Amino acid sequence: MPLSKTLAVRAVRNGQGIVALKAFAPGATICRIKGRVVTGEQVWRYWDTDPRRGENCFRYDADHYLDPEGEIGAYANHSCDPNAGIVKAGRRLLLKAIRPIPAGDEVTHDYSTLLGADDVWKMTCNCGEAGCRKVVKNFKALPAAVVRRYRRLGIIPEFILATV
Ligand SMILES: [Zn+2]
Repeated sequence: MPLSKTLAVRAVRNGQGIVALKAFAPGATICRIKGRVVTGEQVWRYWDTDPRRGENCFRYDADHYLDPEGEIGAYANHSCDPNAGIVKAGRRLLLKAIRPIPAGDEVTHDYSTLLGADDVWKMTCNCGEAGCRKVVKNFKALPAAVVRRYRRLGIIPEFILATV
């Protein structure tokens, strides 16, 4: 599934993921996460009918999520030591590099950066990183040093920080 000149969806460590076809410098926008803005109630309905679809949703603001079904965002995988993060710019969610990403590498972000204090969702993690947290929970459960680093990088959106 080639999606653009710069990204592809390919088999990765855990199923399918987004793979860079060119190098990205830190701070570069990798892509916009497109999708349909849905309510939290809709995401709960996905849990009943299609849990994978529920898991793929990105928190979008205090009351809404972005459902990336059929778009590249549906393949964005988590890492406890990610090379990218989600930044909200106006009404857009952008995937941005936070480290140099060589062509051929999978692009990952930390799901906890989009899980507010009111998000109860958890995921068992086997990302394989040395610092793997084993269970991904909301951003309140992140180690303080990780929160500081992510905030410095601007990859915990204000609407997530506001959920405390
Ligand atoms: Zn992990």
